[in-house]
Amino acid sequence: MTTRVGIYGYGNLGRGIERALKYAEDLELVAVFTRRDPSSLTLSTAGVPVVSVNDVESYKDKIDVMILCGGSATDLPEQTPVLSKLFNVIDSFDTHAKIPEHFANVDAAARATNHIALISAGWDPGMFSLNRLYANAVLPNGKDYTFWGRGVSQGHSDAIRRIEGVADARQYTCPIESALEAVRSGSNPELTTRQKHTRLCYVVLKEGADAAKVENEIKTMPNYFSDYDTTVNFISQEELNKNHRGLPHGGFVLRSGKTGFNLENNHVIEYSLKLDSNPEFTGSVIVAYARAIARLHNEGVNGCKTVFDIAPAYLSPLSGEQLRATML
Ligand code: NDP
Repeated sequence: MTTRVGIYGYGNLGRGIERALKYAEDLELVAVFTRRDPSSLTLSTAGVPVVSVNDVESYKDKIDVMILCGGSATDLPEQTPVLSKLFNVIDSFDTHAKIPEHFANVDAAARATNHIALISAGWDPGMFSLNRLYANAVLPNGKDYTFWGRGVSQGHSDAIRRIEGVADARQYTCPIESALEAVRSGSNPELTTRQKHTRLCYVVLKEGADAAKVENEIKTMPNYFSDYDTTVNFISQEELNKNHRGLPHGGFVLRSGKTGFNLENNHVIEYSLKLDSNPEFTGSVIVAYARAIARLHNEGVNGCKTVFDIAPAYLSPLSGEQLRATML
């Protein structure tokens, strides 16, 4: 049976979902919804309409799962509860501290209308969260570590672009290899923020801007850079366009733990991702979870879920029999 999906919001993630759907034969893209003028957007997929969000209600019975691709800061807290009254929905909400509040709002809306919603799908939160949970359940005596990168942080790149005199910027978060090795050795090191990651910035200056002043403003910016060793490289717009337009990312989730009556044996669990395209990988995770929630909805399940609540077999297009024969 084909699951009919919509994409709500067409930015980096919306385009990533569109690409992942191309290779999901059991899912069909019905329409893309936008707050902008629909005629201003051109999709990469032929034959799929771009529709104004004002007309979304008319798709109520034409879409099985609406995939929400708005930003976590202001779009999703508003869009996910509202749309879960009309559709089964999935989002990638990644403001970790606000997930409990977002869950409660979405759960109330989805339950009231017998829909299922899945929030915070992606890789962090998402695949990293699952790996933290598995590792904690298996090794209760242990310590967790998460490293990010090397990858582009949109938030940090935006923060640099807001500085006076900056025309454009790209910021990479980089894990410190010696810290990773210390964790892998099982020595359970205590690591400060500065000891885990560095920040590498490529900045294009506006004409006449004071490079030393911009560099100082970046390096002393509270929350974003002041707690890290930060390197600032000034480059031309051409070089930035040529070498730094992609959105790579990734990271490592590790748990080092002990077993034995006297905790004499050590174990290290490591899960790592190296992503050429953060939005395309995130889109691929979301598409697998969209399949899962469509199936759960058909079984009569409703309310808000996270990746913790979905049994793994629901993610795969293969049947239980095929999975047991090939992957167990
Ligand atoms: P974008 O800023 O590219 O897009 C967000 C929204 O902004 C879009 O849905 C779109 O809505 C609007 N928009 C996009 N481009 C333009 C434009 N040129 N002009 C005006 N509006 C535009 O964000 P991303 O797609 O990169 O990320 C979306 C969210 O995904 C992030 O906030 C992040 O929280 C989450 N995410 C989660 C991950 C995870 O692992 N859980 C990983 C990566 C991202 P509209 O079409 O309606 O205008």
